[in-house]
Amino acid sequence: MNNLEQTLSIIKPDAVERNLENEIKEMFKGQGFLILKEKKIQIEKSEAEKFYKVHETKPFYNDLCDYLSSGPIVVMVLEKENAVLGNRELMGATNPKDAQEGTIRKKYGISIDKNSVHGSDSVENAKIEIDFFFKD
Ligand code: UDP
Ligand code: MG
Repeated sequence: MNNLEQTLSIIKPDAVERNLENEIKEMFKGQGFLILKEKKIQIEKSEAEKFYKVHETKPFYNDLCDYLSSGPIVVMVLEKENAVLGNRELMGATNPKDAQEGTIRKKYGISIDKNSVHGSDSVENAKIEIDFFFKD
């Protein structure tokens, strides 16, 4: 039963810009996530390209990397039982139009590109993404 996991969450530029940082953190805490680490940073486009390398062949890759590096973001390590899946559920569908009521993207997402949050999609990628931002 015990399956404590950590996952990487990013509050993306559209949400930081609208001062939604605290509201979104409250949604995580309300669902029992612990915020183990957090920092507000702005990354270079070259770093965004590394972070999103899995998408490098996609038509939206260049715009996505421009966007993620366009303003401050908040990166966090979240911890909870089954945190990876739980975070994906709380985030909602990639396109806010398809997101369920009660999800972060339904509540705050503007569009498929400005969808307010990132979350790791597997335990393996969570480890890679946490290391990417928090390796000492
Ligand atoms: N994205 C986009 N256009 C698309 C699909 C994705 O701009 O048609 C962006 C969107 O910001 C998304 C990110 O690329 O969050 C990564 O895409 P992915 O399919 O991994 O979605 P996620 O895991 O964030 O739900
Ligand atoms: Mg993804």
